[in-house]
Amino acid sequence: MDLYQVLGVPRNAAPADVERAYLRLARRYHPGINPGDGVSAELYRRVQEAYAVLGDPDRRREYDRGASPAPAATIEATMAFEGFDFSSLAEGAAAATFSELFADVFQDAARRVSAPEQGTSLDITLQLSFEDAVRGGQFPLSVTRSERCGACGGTGHVPRPPVPCPQCAGAGSRRWARGHMVFSKNCELCGGVGQILSHSCRVCGSSGVQARSEVVTLSLPPGVEDEARISVPGRGHAGARGGSAGDLYVTIEVAPHPYLRREGRDLALTLPVAVHEAALGARINVPTLDGPVALKIPAGSASGQRLRLRGRGVPGDASGAVPPGDLVAELQIVLPPVRDERSKELLREFGRLNDIDVRRHLFGGAS
Ligand SMILES: [Zn+2]
Ligand SMILES: [Zn+2]
Repeated sequence: MDLYQVLGVPRNAAPADVERAYLRLARRYHPGINPGDGVSAELYRRVQEAYAVLGDPDRRREYDRGASPAPAATIEATMAFEGFDFSSLAEGAAAATFSELFADVFQDAARRVSAPEQGTSLDITLQLSFEDAVRGGQFPLSVTRSERCGACGGTGHVPRPPVPCPQCAGAGSRRWARGHMVFSKNCELCGGVGQILSHSCRVCGSSGVQARSEVVTLSLPPGVEDEARISVPGRGHAGARGGSAGDLYVTIEVAPHPYLRREGRDLALTLPVAVHEAALGARINVPTLDGPVALKIPAGSASGQRLRLRGRGVPGDASGAVPPGDLVAELQIVLPPVRDERSKELLREFGRLNDIDVRRHLFGGAS
């Protein structure tokens, strides 16, 4: 790659012409002006490399003598800015004019990248049996979350014996002239301190966080509802670079029960009763979560009638502030299959003895 060709200048071009050509090309191919254009990005990189050599009198002389250009002494500062990667290769003496002109923007971006970030929340689902949801209790959850890195205390940096900053030679700021303008800014590498006091944490890659599995025990009151979302503050992902942790959200999924259903704090079931039990009254056993309980069916009960067993629903809380719910039995009269002649004869006689029109109300009182 001929560096003169890259900048489109003759080998005997004056330094001012080299700079002009560089500025023109750098502006044309700058990634900020050509978003997502890979070819422009590559051309921009080559223009930067060529100017890093040809813009420096010593390095240009070496290059003209036939020496292959030594890799530029670069400090690669990669910063996210408007979704782009600004990788400035030519820092130091041959600093890219773009980073000079955009010095404020770069410093802003650098500050934003290194600021602590609030951790993100973590969402998990807990599947509960119907009985567990009714009774509540302690439920251990296995959670994989990012935690503050122990090696660096979440800062992403580990202290080291101080050395003078290689970029500003200990001055803390950089001043340089370009044409008639003099530029000055805080050294980004040492933040203006002039010394390097820490190095990146190798354990966490300077993010300050590490993935870790742990068990979080969730304490649920009796009667947690299906699709309830429980928040556990501070048990989400740790924030990058020492930021506070996000929250853990647990969404409850309650499995259905074969015959019980939830009606708030009441438990309900459809209770089949035989014709003679409904007509004559009976004492029958009803299943509850604590075993069978006797229920009195009054004589003359109808289908759809709801009978309550007090306090046999969702348990109340320990303090007594929330009372227990009931078990609600909804009666369903079940007719046994009538096959034998004797039963049929009894039912015919029953009909003759109880000659009332059960559909009278559908016809305005006259049938
Ligand atoms: Zn670390
Ligand atoms: Zn410095």
